[in-house]
Order: sequence, then structure tokens, then C-alpha cells
Amino acid sequence: MVQIHDKSFGPYISADEIRQKVQELANQINKEYEGKELIFISILNGSFMFAADLMKCITIPCEISFVKVSSYQGTNTSGRVDELIGLNTTIDHKHIIILEDIVDTGITMNKIFNYLSSFEPASLKIASLLYKPDAFEGKHKPDLVGFSIPNAFVIGYGLDYNEHGRNYDAIYKLIEN
Ligand code: 5GP
Repeated sequence: MVQIHDKSFGPYISADEIRQKVQELANQINKEYEGKELIFISILNGSFMFAADLMKCITIPCEISFVKVSSYQGTNTSGRVDELIGLNTTIDHKHIIILEDIVDTGITMNKIFNYLSSFEPASLKIASLLYKPDAFEGKHKPDLVGFSIPNAFVIGYGLDYNEHGRNYDAIYKLIEN
């Protein structure tokens, strides 16, 4: 069990299970994207560990870019404008895989997907280590999923609770009192 701030978390997905799943996802990508110009776009902060481990298993030529979602008050009618900061490469006509740690409601992914598709990439897919199908109400389901999980709050392997807990090599689930 691990204690973070005021909450306790129990073991949920082991480091070995994650390692095996990441290798499986990489094998699939190595096969599907052979001969294509591939760029991974890793969404910070949560996906840094997933992205690093996945990259080590990728054997085909590729690029990676780390971005952050930024939401600011704009002048359009809806009020809010979302963009990705840090996208320091051109993605038009290239094959893109978005790397996320977790897709929950899918609202964040809607914004990321819409923003990236405006650059007209050759293809745009989503790889998420974790996916909560029962919570999902978005438009873009992840194409590659490590683990589908129920509606529980998890930490570790990049995922945080109030910025702590990202350092664990396994995933832990909140113990509800
Ligand atoms: P969305 O609901 O838009 O799909 O997810 C928004 C963000 O909420 C995710 O990118 C992630 O940062 C956070 N999130 C959703 N579920 C969890 C969870 O179980 N644990 C942690 N640590 N973050 C989560």
C-alpha cells in the first residue's frame, strides 16, 4: 500500500504487467507503421513514463515531441481556446500517434485531437495506457489501449494525485473509506 497526502492506494497493475503490455503495444506499432513517417506526440505531464518505455521498444524510424495542453481565455464566442504548447515539429502529411497516460471522459482528448487534425496529418491515432470506458463520453476512443479499467482513481507510472505519486513503476488504485 502507498500513502500520498491524505489518501491510501493499493496495488492494481504491476510493473511486470505494464512492461509486457507496453512491449505488445510497441510490437503492434512496429508492424503497422513500418515504412511510414511516424511522429509520437506525448501529452505531458502524465505520459512521460509510458512514452519513455514505449520508445525503447520501438524499432522503426520515428520522432517524438512532448507537448502540454494549454487553455486560455480567447476572443471567440465559446470563450476558451485550447492549443498544444511545445509542438516543435511539422506534422502535416505525417503519421501521428498521440501518447496519453489515461483517457477518462475523453474531453481532454477531444481538444487534443481537434487541434492536431487541423494540421492535416496523414493519419492520427491515439495510444493510451489506460482507458475508462464507463466514464467515456468523448468523440475519439483510443485506438491502442494498454488496460481498460473501471471508474476508479489510479496513480503511479506517471499518474499523480496532487502532483505526487508519478514516480512509482506500478499503478495503484485509491482505497475508498
Ligand atoms: P479526461 O476526463 O478529459 O479524459 O481526462 C482528463 C485528465 O484527468 C487525464 O489526462 C488525467 O490527467 C486525469 N485523470 C483522469 N482519470 C484519472 C485517474 O484515475 N488518475 C489520475 N491520476 N488522473 C486521472
